[in-house]
Amino acid sequence: MKAIRGATTVDNDTPEEIRRAVGGLLSEIMAKNNLSYGEIICIMLSNTQDIKSLYPAKAARECGFAHCALYSSLEPDIDNSLKLCIRVMILAEIDKAPTHVYLGKAECLRKDITKIINIALDGPAGSGKSTVSKLVAEKLGILYLDTGAMYRAIALKCVRENADYCDKDAVKHILNGLDLTIDYRDGKQITMLDGADVGESIRTPQVSLLASYVSAYSFVRNKMVELQRQIAAKFSCILDGRDIGTNVLPGCEFKFFLTASPEVRAKRRYEELCAKGSAQPYEDVLKEINERDFQDKNRAVAPLKQASDAILIDTSALTAEQVAAVIVENVQRKI
Ligand code: C5P
Repeated sequence: MKAIRGATTVDNDTPEEIRRAVGGLLSEIMAKNNLSYGEIICIMLSNTQDIKSLYPAKAARECGFAHCALYSSLEPDIDNSLKLCIRVMILAEIDKAPTHVYLGKAECLRKDITKIINIALDGPAGSGKSTVSKLVAEKLGILYLDTGAMYRAIALKCVRENADYCDKDAVKHILNGLDLTIDYRDGKQITMLDGADVGESIRTPQVSLLASYVSAYSFVRNKMVELQRQIAAKFSCILDGRDIGTNVLPGCEFKFFLTASPEVRAKRRYEELCAKGSAQPYEDVLKEINERDFQDKNRAVAPLKQASDAILIDTSALTAEQVAAVIVENVQRKI
């Protein structure tokens, strides 16, 4: 079950205007959350004291929301608070992250929801970026764009086509015929290569290392960066990668850079691989991490580097939840 929030304002305190505002808000919440009537358990509404002509719950019933429990309450009269405002909380039987909706003058109440925000999260392999990104996305109700998955998909295509990653022309050929799309299902990224979900097959150690090599080509990066910028312009999202703060979104308002010692990062990766049933020795994982670090930091184009305005977080002694909390707190403080 999830709680979906929203708010709107009316221009005048009339029953017609209240019905319009409540009906519009509830319909928008249903559309944005792909919600059916049967999934709604209850709708709780509140209004400011300058609204007197109709209970918002009655307006909701009159707009067709008669099958679920409805509740209306009156808010305290607080100086300088938004006038003629109606707030709602819907409890619904859904699993996906809810999309909250703020309409009319109520948009100013939640700028984080009504304006597009992008968060750049960079750092080396194993610094915890993907786990932290997923948590931050869930907590802020935004999307997570795993940019490494794009480079991994190109690497996987090279493996499948038996293309030599050292041969620039061979990689160019792969890129020209590349059928790569990023979709979202229930708020989760689906990386589609040649029409199929490759979420699992891009996670092998071989693909990891190869991704690090092919991502060093400027023609590869240009194409991927363009796609990343398009997604970031359309959706509020946290993007994790190596060059998000320095190159993909240099003007981004929220930038973070995660670090941890190579040993801590290798241990995390090793445990992840063990959990998936892989028998790769720890020493090999450490070697691969060091090799990827070297490759990512020393390439000529957009190397792994902390942006000068990024906040540095050493995750060695922190849990993913703690790191996510630092990021969420920083973002919420500024919006
Ligand atoms: O983050 P992940 O380990 O999935 O990335 C795989 C590889 O893709 C990295 O080692 C890095 O070389 C490359 N990459 C990149 N720029 C990004 C994201 C990933 O060069 N923004």
